[in-house]
Amino acid sequence: MAETTPQTARVGFNVRARAGGSLACAHCEHDLPGTPTTYLSQVPRHVGPTREGGPMVFADPAVYVDAEIVFRQYYCPGCYTALHTEVVPASEPV
Ligand SMILES: [Zn+2]
Repeated sequence: MAETTPQTARVGFNVRARAGGSLACAHCEHDLPGTPTTYLSQVPRHVGPTREGGPMVFADPAVYVDAEIVFRQYYCPGCYTALHTEVVPASEPV
């Protein structure tokens, strides 16, 4: 169950929704655009090879799938905390 306070509700570990519905970074309170389902497509992001996911992402995806697999990391535009990280097919919508 989501953690709540009178002013905000946790959308994720790094994102909170204010009482009016706008989103904010849970670390620096910077306004985030969009809604809980669209903000990732509107914040700065990095796309790179899966090895950038860290030492636990060691397998070469080409051995297992034909699709191009990428590492994506999304950042708060205020403090550049990583809001979300994923390893997905390059064709996966943001
Ligand atoms: Zn922030």
